[in-house]
Amino acid sequence: MEKYWVIQKVGEGTFGSVWSAINKQTGEVVAVKQMKNKKYHSWEECINLSEVKSLIKMSSHPNIVKLREVIREHDILYLVFEYMECNLHQLIRKRGRRVFSEDEVRNWCFQVFHALAYMHQRGYFHRDLKPANLLVSNNVIKLADFGSARKINSGQPFTQNITTPWYRAPEVMLKSPTYTSAIDMWAMGAIMAELFTLRPLFPGLNGADQMYKICSVIGTPTDNSWPHGLRLARGMNYQFPYLPGVHMSIFMPSVSDDATSLIRSLCSWDPFKRPTAAQVLQHPFFHKCYYVIPPSPRTTPAAYCQQNTNTNKNTAVIGIQAGIC
Ligand code: ADP
Ligand code: MG
Repeated sequence: MEKYWVIQKVGEGTFGSVWSAINKQTGEVVAVKQMKNKKYHSWEECINLSEVKSLIKMSSHPNIVKLREVIREHDILYLVFEYMECNLHQLIRKRGRRVFSEDEVRNWCFQVFHALAYMHQRGYFHRDLKPANLLVSNNVIKLADFGSARKINSGQPFTQNITTPWYRAPEVMLKSPTYTSAIDMWAMGAIMAELFTLRPLFPGLNGADQMYKICSVIGTPTDNSWPHGLRLARGMNYQFPYLPGVHMSIFMPSVSDDATSLIRSLCSWDPFKRPTAAQVLQHPFFHKCYYVIPPSPRTTPAAYCQQNTNTNKNTAVIGIQAGIC
């Protein structure tokens, strides 16, 4: 770690403490995540971590935070990332009552859905989407914290205790053994609503209260809307509270029908009824984001380039720098 000057702590999560730092050689500002609660006795342990593996695969997307280096020193694991100014949770809290415009919400969400489409198409899902794990610099937003990311068909049993309950999909709450990337879509429905209202959509105090909050917004599931969910509930002796639900526009009266209909479909009880990230990008809410670039002989497609690998005798380090050329 001697190649960095550590500046200050910029974040704290369940698994890591994050510090801003400067690369002494290049002057680049980075964010160093020091993994806590565990000693890393071998390099294999570090590179086999699902956070590291999935980040190495995903880091070339412009809306996924770039992992610059993985460093193991004195049995401590450090992940070095590009530095981002703040997270979306901080940005939302800073706004007070000044709601974001629909264009601003569209801009944030379009970028996140692009990243999710990229990730899901490569067979990974994030599993811990929440505003604190979306990082913002200027008008760019990036997916971060891949600590819970998994391969969709990894064959491992999925744990239930993922994501903060506010953004947790109902099939996870009901302990479905086989949830899919649709849990990320549920979380995005809740995040999108929060961007419009600056308040969490389902702010449950615990598991039961979380379910109550969901039912009070989207109505109790029926044999028609989610038969599998009713079976899961019976299997664990859970009885849904009976609530009719309300129209999303009650929470967001000045938001367009396109936006509320998208949020409502993302927050469908049945994961199979939620649109995929690729489908969401075609939703009328995002039609404004597409325009045709007039052809020009000087326009060349953006290309990604891979920079070289760093090694250091004293510490195990891999360089994973990738950027737009
Ligand atoms: P954990 O896995 O423990 O939840 P995170 O990776 O989510 O850790 O990081 C915790 C917090 O640190 C984030 O919510 C964010 O505020 C900050 N943070 C993480 N990565 C960066 C980064 N690349 N640039 C700036 N801040 C970051
Ligand atoms: Mg986190």
